[in-house]
Amino acid sequence: MHNVKYLILGGGISGLAFAYQKRHDDYLVIEKESMPGGLCRSFYAPGFVWDVAGHFFHFHSEQTRQFVKQMLEGVELCNVTKCAKVFYGDRYLNAPFQYNIHQLPPDEFLQCLTDLYFANDADNAPSFKSFVRQKFGAGISDKFLIPYNEKLYACDLDELERDSMGKFLPKLTFDMLMTFYHGQKGTTYNDFFLYPKDGTMQLVNSYMKHLVTERIHLGESVVEIDTDSKTVTTDRGSYHYDHLISTLPLNRFIDMAHCGDSHLLHSNKIVVLNLGFDLPSRDKEVNWVYFPGDEVFYRVGFYNNIAPREKMSLYVEIGLRSDEPVDIDRLLQRTLVDLRRVHITDQHQLVSHHAIIVEPAYVHITHDSKAETQRVIESMRRQNVYMVGRYARWEYSAIDDSIEQAQELSAQLG
Ligand SMILES: Cc1cc2nc3c(=O)[nH]c(=O)nc-3n(C[C@H](O)[C@H](O)[C@H](O)COP(=O)(O)OP(=O)(O)OC[C@H]3O[C@@H](n4cnc5c(N)ncnc54)[C@H](O)[C@@H]3O)c2cc1C
Repeated sequence: MHNVKYLILGGGISGLAFAYQKRHDDYLVIEKESMPGGLCRSFYAPGFVWDVAGHFFHFHSEQTRQFVKQMLEGVELCNVTKCAKVFYGDRYLNAPFQYNIHQLPPDEFLQCLTDLYFANDADNAPSFKSFVRQKFGAGISDKFLIPYNEKLYACDLDELERDSMGKFLPKLTFDMLMTFYHGQKGTTYNDFFLYPKDGTMQLVNSYMKHLVTERIHLGESVVEIDTDSKTVTTDRGSYHYDHLISTLPLNRFIDMAHCGDSHLLHSNKIVVLNLGFDLPSRDKEVNWVYFPGDEVFYRVGFYNNIAPREKMSLYVEIGLRSDEPVDIDRLLQRTLVDLRRVHITDQHQLVSHHAIIVEPAYVHITHDSKAETQRVIESMRRQNVYMVGRYARWEYSAIDDSIEQAQELSAQLG
């Protein structure tokens, strides 16, 4: 049996970020795919660069921004000022919807404004759905926040906890409304972002340059975890560890380590369609669009307006229940019809495409999942097992959070 001080499960950004912190020590990463990067991988077709849906670098800490820029030295970066829209009814409005209700028809604007005026404090709301309604009023909620998030999460929002979206749900005050009404810009977490011209994978490649190839086992799957004997079994062999760092989805970890009830943790899954066309996009500015209506997708992004390229290159995100069957051809055909309906395509011909299923994609944060997550994380920690990243901690977080969690854990372990 192989002995290793830091055994890292999963070679996505969280696993690589932790390995980087321990690059001068004894570490080993086990990754089931043949390529590292997890959700930060990119895919290349002639003339097109695609991610697992757009993965952009936004930061809440200046230190992390500087760290990532340093890691990406020599990589061509696009500095983007966000331009996001909402397709509502038959028109495009600026996003976030709740800041731009003045762009609605006058009667709907008035309804949203009145409902917002009479909205209540939502601190005691029992669910995400009631939180949204209490906080933003029925107008904004029923026109956008509820239908959009129901498409994304693919569940009844009454099942989700009040703070399910955390920092990702833009707050709203009358002052903010006035700022946007007067055409000034307000602030959201990703107003400015960085993106490598050749895809998010560039960050993965930058990490890989600092790591030893032999210590990254690709194409190897973890199948069993025994935290009493500190042993991990894979489809290739067994490893004994001092410290185990898991970035695997917590529900799967629980099943492999027999340490909890994985049924309490559920999520949606998403289908990402990356589409390359023969013509430029009609809109040359928009980065992505939110769709709360009956289109099959909830979001469509324009790679060509983020890392400028001549031909239109889209990512299309479709939310599904985890038990829903997936028929990629049917979803693609429906997508092409709906893209035309919302005026993104007209004479455009699809010349290249690629599909990915992501599961879990957005975890469902419920009363039970929160309690079980906390219990498992705390009990595992007492056995030198640590969770890093969005899926291991069963939360809604981003790349910068993975990097910071890896740095913090590494510092704690000395
Ligand atoms: C649609 C979408 C868009 C997003 N956009 C952004 C964005 O713009 N900006 C941003 O900062 N964040 C974004 N995120 C969040 C971001 O993707 C995650 O925070 C981050 O990639 C999580 O990295 P991770 O390494 O923790 O997980 P993962 O990338 O999921 O890595 C886990 C790894 O574990 C491996 N694995 C799983 N099971 C096993 C097993 N049994 N054995 C061995 N290996 C295994 C997987 O193959 C995978 O490589 C987005 C997420 C989604 C779903």
